[in-house]
Amino acid sequence: MTDPVYLDHNATTPVRPEAAAALAAAMAATGNPSSVHGFGRAAREAVEAARDDVAALVGARAGDVVFTGGGTESNALALAGCGRRRVLASAVEHPSVLAAADELIPVDGDGVVDLAALDRLLDGRGADTVVSAMLANNETGVLQPVARVAEVARRHGALVHCDAVQAAGKVAVDMAALGADLLTLSAHKLGGPMGAGALVLAPGTDLAPLLRGGGQERGRRAGTENLPGIAAFATAARVARRELETFAGLARLRDRLERRLRAAAPAARVFGAAAPRLPNTTCVAMPGVPGATQVMALDLAGYAVSAGAACSSGKVAPSHVLAAMGADPADADGAIRVSLGWTTKESDVDGFAATWAALYGRLGHGAGAALKTAPAA
Ligand code: PLP
Repeated sequence: MTDPVYLDHNATTPVRPEAAAALAAAMAATGNPSSVHGFGRAAREAVEAARDDVAALVGARAGDVVFTGGGTESNALALAGCGRRRVLASAVEHPSVLAAADELIPVDGDGVVDLAALDRLLDGRGADTVVSAMLANNETGVLQPVARVAEVARRHGALVHCDAVQAAGKVAVDMAALGADLLTLSAHKLGGPMGAGALVLAPGTDLAPLLRGGGQERGRRAGTENLPGIAAFATAARVARRELETFAGLARLRDRLERRLRAAAPAARVFGAAAPRLPNTTCVAMPGVPGATQVMALDLAGYAVSAGAACSSGKVAPSHVLAAMGADPADADGAIRVSLGWTTKESDVDGFAATWAALYGRLGHGAGAALKTAPAA
């Protein structure tokens, strides 16, 4: 049996060897970054060096990086701590943003935020509001026009939060160009470990802490820093930044994959295909076959992908992202996400496409045709 092929990099991507080495080295060292002795000072130096690398990934200042326990915490901290009473979030945000949202901004059929609707929702209420728009969607890979969202928000005096968890390390991210006041990052989506992340602030942005009782992170996040996680996060950020061009090359494999799937099933729908997207993500519906069935069958055949929003506890719920895009429920039911990454090879994509096509022949709307043309036996 050949090794299973991992095509679920948006759920989490394998830790880069350089990051794993940094994690092991940090774990082998002793020292609390808050201690004043030499061990503590060395640990502090490592945290601050890591802060430089994470800041550089998004064009920010090191002093504006707040290390957290991951993307979920950063989103919660941004929206609770930014000082605005009303949270206006795009309808396709990650659940950790939606949990804090008061109202939703609709998106179009490709999953792109409706700027005119945003303008209306802000009218007369901007000073109370923080607008949250993700840079890249985790399910479809669709990129939001965050700079334009920020333009509208700023005109009304609203703050802007951007969840860049899926974009950072996959496409270039420049916080100032985006016009974001607060920006969320997570280590495990870019080759670092789970349980580490950052909230990055634009210069001068105030932030009230969620976790209190320690002066760490300039009073913005109490608790001893996760130094091994932070060191590995920073190393992964450095590697991902260096490899951005290589990552962009995944678009060729993604396009090859989509061509093959469409050739096998011309009715297969690729969600968000008309919008700018991440180079690595395909959200595709196999006509007539539930996503959960596909995921299990593909897993048995050696391919790891996900259905719906696979972030949470293995449950497969209908996708709020596809619903917000106005997808036909039957199409949405048949959707799976295939996400490529730094370990993906052309043969992985070709093998997956052949397996998916065979599955469609067996179970999909193509099954009848396949049976009709099969020799009688
Ligand atoms: N935001 C987006 C867009 C995500 O895809 C995820 C994870 O899937 C998160 C936030 C949460 O990040 P973490 O897993 O680090 O809590």
